[in-house]
Amino acid sequence: MTADLHTHSTASDGTFTPTALVEAAHSLGISLLALTDHDTTAGVSEALATARRLGMSFLPGVELSAEGPPGKCHLLGLGIDPNYPRLIETLRQLSQNRRERNAKIIGRLNALGVAITMDDVLAHAPQGANIGRPHFAATLVAKGAVTDTKEAFDRYLGDEAAANVEKETLSPAEAIALVHEAGGLCFLAHPGLLRRSQHETHESRVRALAVLGLDGIEAYYSSYTPANEAFFLRLAEKLSLLVTGGSDFHGANKPDVPLGVVRYGQPLELTLLPSRLRALAVA
Ligand code: AMP
Ligand code: MN
Ligand code: MN
Ligand code: MN
Repeated sequence: MTADLHTHSTASDGTFTPTALVEAAHSLGISLLALTDHDTTAGVSEALATARRLGMSFLPGVELSAEGPPGKCHLLGLGIDPNYPRLIETLRQLSQNRRERNAKIIGRLNALGVAITMDDVLAHAPQGANIGRPHFAATLVAKGAVTDTKEAFDRYLGDEAAANVEKETLSPAEAIALVHEAGGLCFLAHPGLLRRSQHETHESRVRALAVLGLDGIEAYYSSYTPANEAFFLRLAEKLSLLVTGGSDFHGANKPDVPLGVVRYGQPLELTLLPSRLRALAVA
């Protein structure tokens, strides 16, 4: 029995439709899957219907970008009600923020001499996707402006690169409260990838989020070494936090991250996940 509780579909920046994602998980023998698209639950109902059809356990989820005290992070909401009205309304506003930001990114790319329009990006993205930087990267590659995704981020779209525009997000406190209101548990995504300020440790950051109500951390993650995993498991134990784990599967948008491969090349055994989290599974 294995689980993958961090995946993306065509509703955000993955390349598998929600149906194809659940079918792929099912054929790999994964027994519990969560869909955690960036700032949207638009893929959840389709994924849930497919999970029901296949008799597979499923956790509705979302990965929220957050910025504000105690710092920028990604937060996973797991076991949420995807139809909770204030969640839907907030996600709608975040999509609107993205549309405004995307127009600014186009402006910056044009100013840098790259001929690209928003219609080009939309034409290279799945219908209805919550558009983000990976879609811009794919479009730049398709148009021959760069040779690959890495060059697209290095030259134009990376956090420090010239065409990147910060998105307006929730604060960590707002994101955690929203996930709780929607009935879910809130986890710090991939704490090993956090960008910390000089005086910060992983522990001080996680402690600050715990004060805001964080339920747990993603202690199992596809890019961790055994030492990273042991560190975050110890940290969770020390701070009495729950743990979760996932691959961060994006299909062809992250070709080196296969579905269901969570622990340094191996799957994540379901029994390593806390029962409070497993109890939120549906279907
Ligand atoms: P956005 O939400 O629009 O800011 O886009 C963030 C997404 O871009 C992340 O979830 C990753 O999938 C992807 N991403 C960010 N930085 C890089 C990078 N340096 N190389 C490849 N993909 C990246
Ligand atoms: Mn992504
Ligand atoms: Mn993330
Ligand atoms: Mn992710």
